[in-house]
Amino acid sequence: MNDHIQKILFTEQQISHRISELASTITADFNASGAAPAVVAVATGAFLFVADLVRKIHLPITVDFIRAESYGSGTVSNGHPAVSFGLKLDVRGKHVILVEDIVDTGNTLSCLIDYMKTNGASSVSVCTLLDKPARRKVHFQVVGEGKFYRGFECPDEFVVGYGLDFAEQYRNLPYVGVLKPEMYKSDLYYRIRPNQKWAQQQ
Ligand code: 5GP
Ligand code: MG
Ligand code: MG
Repeated sequence: MNDHIQKILFTEQQISHRISELASTITADFNASGAAPAVVAVATGAFLFVADLVRKIHLPITVDFIRAESYGSGTVSNGHPAVSFGLKLDVRGKHVILVEDIVDTGNTLSCLIDYMKTNGASSVSVCTLLDKPARRKVHFQVVGEGKFYRGFECPDEFVVGYGLDFAEQYRNLPYVGVLKPEMYKSDLYYRIRPNQKWAQQQ
């Protein structure tokens, strides 16, 4: 285990097993409806999750990335995110599955669901690896026949690994873990993001 990590919440094996289950459910749901999904992953955090997920979905799919960011706030998302890197593919008339690393306040997903609606998606499903329902502020809704798929419920702790970062670090850990609190104040963090003060917001 990386020595910046306090504890592992979800191991590589647990994640892999859960992704197989999610992919089977998605395959069965979309087979039943006859719709070919357009997978849209939220960069950067969902990059590993989507890579592992789509390899286990047995349907003809497209894959695209989108990015949403809120400005002027720290690592805890407390602002109003906006799409900062749009889609390459057209989602008009498509059955979109938004793939996220984690749902926290719900602001990001709410913004992205609106974006898909505005761009004419026929349905919008959400597939998130982690969900922190305790911190929800915005109750987003899937669109049309869309469904909500979730890997794990996550305790109200700041987690990193398997795509999730702290100051852009730790994304390559193969598991999801809780960062040692002293890392929030680390020299490394302030060198990378001198204007963001995640630790003070806790
Ligand atoms: P929301 O808009 O739902 O509040 O936040 C979603 C985004 O905030 C996630 O996609 C992720 O980038 C970030 N986030 C929320 N909670 C955590 C966490 O515990 N760890 C990390 N690394 N990022 C988080
Ligand atoms: Mg994300
Ligand atoms: Mg992040």
